[in-house]
Amino acid sequence: MTSEQSRPAAVREAAAGNIPAALADLGSLVRIPSVAFDGFDHAQVRRSAEAVAALAKSTGVFESVQIRDAAIDGGDRRGMPAVLATRAARDGRPTILLYAHHDVQPVGDEALWDTPPFEPTVRDGRLYGRGAADDKAGVMVHIGALRTLRDTLGDDIRLGVALFVEGEEEAGSRSFAQFLADNADALRADVIVVADSGNWDATTPALTVSLRGNARFTLTVRTLEHASHSGMFGGAVPDAMMATVKLLATLWDDDGAVAVPGLAQRDAATPAYSEQTLRDEAGLPDAVTPIGRDSILSRIWNKASITVTGIDAPSVVNASNTLTPEVTVVISARIAPGQPAREAYEAIAAHLRAHAPFGAELTFSDVDCGDGFLVDTGGWAVGEARDALAAGYGADPVELGVGGSIPFIADLVRTFPEAQILVTGVEDPHARAHSPNESLHLDTFRHALISEALLLERLDARGR
Ligand SMILES: [Zn+2]
Repeated sequence: MTSEQSRPAAVREAAAGNIPAALADLGSLVRIPSVAFDGFDHAQVRRSAEAVAALAKSTGVFESVQIRDAAIDGGDRRGMPAVLATRAARDGRPTILLYAHHDVQPVGDEALWDTPPFEPTVRDGRLYGRGAADDKAGVMVHIGALRTLRDTLGDDIRLGVALFVEGEEEAGSRSFAQFLADNADALRADVIVVADSGNWDATTPALTVSLRGNARFTLTVRTLEHASHSGMFGGAVPDAMMATVKLLATLWDDDGAVAVPGLAQRDAATPAYSEQTLRDEAGLPDAVTPIGRDSILSRIWNKASITVTGIDAPSVVNASNTLTPEVTVVISARIAPGQPAREAYEAIAAHLRAHAPFGAELTFSDVDCGDGFLVDTGGWAVGEARDALAAGYGADPVELGVGGSIPFIADLVRTFPEAQILVTGVEDPHARAHSPNESLHLDTFRHALISEALLLERLDARGR
């Protein structure tokens, strides 16, 4: 930093200089297939944690860098390795906790990828690869911003920093709450930045202020003790598929809106968003109409949705002329922010029981609920983040709702109720996280890294 230069100007210049190295390191992370799901090679998750730990050390800002895991549900099984790095605050400055995750979704059908998923490939201003956006880019925004802080302030950094890079977010964060409990002192912060969300578009930043919760469960519908000949009994005996189809149909009205009493909706304004944009971003053909009512974004951000995501029934090749005794489905519901997910699940289960056709027997299992989240935007950190994003992107941030869920945020709020939480990210609407051909918009990455470096500089300059 030259003496004529203001600190923010020096940070901006240093951040821009750090981008090529951050992208190269991102490419190295993408080459590691760190899938934490059961049945995948967890040695790769360990390799990925070691790579992230080395990157954390490379920033030169931490007093401690460790790879740690925690017990799952207090049992003998351990969760996937996370990286935890810390430096203490000085001179009454705040402490910031930077969160991202280094595990990735499985690639699915590799034939659907235009280039190999673990081979980072740049084309048309985007970096393609599994985890290139979700969330290895989030990891590298933190690392690049910290390198920038070191390059600009050297030994004068007074900000406290904790870096927490989880290793099993995509696999359900099963040891997350235990990890927070085990490491509460190291993780305690005034401000938490969760870099695992999206932006309004590739050039307009966003702060995510609401997230829907989720309630997922398995439902088995049984109408018969065993399969019976459809010629001998069809027309007098209900089969489980008929009961299931009629039952599931009660979940939605004729507009495709959820028709379950007891599901809340949030009353909040949403930005303009056209049906054409929805068609482009979701891949909805012209002949197919959208579902639901009211503004498009209120349907996605503020209301519940219910999707049947799996079904076990006789397959097409095994179809025989019998009445099916039992059908099992997976129901995945998104819950409006503000409603406890468990309460919403109970409402859906009660609705299904009340509508079970012909006295069909219903069995509920594998219930998994995660609460949604509403950010308290009243704290000082939101103002600092808005200013940093506006400066880094050159565009004012949008307050974003997200239809998806980040259930671990509820754990963070529960464990650290005094912390201010900022949900940011590097994705844009075309990132295709979790899908084939996931990619990162390189301009978004650049702007996100500069913004976070500016945020760190601002927090280093202010008291708690
Ligand atoms: Zn993620």
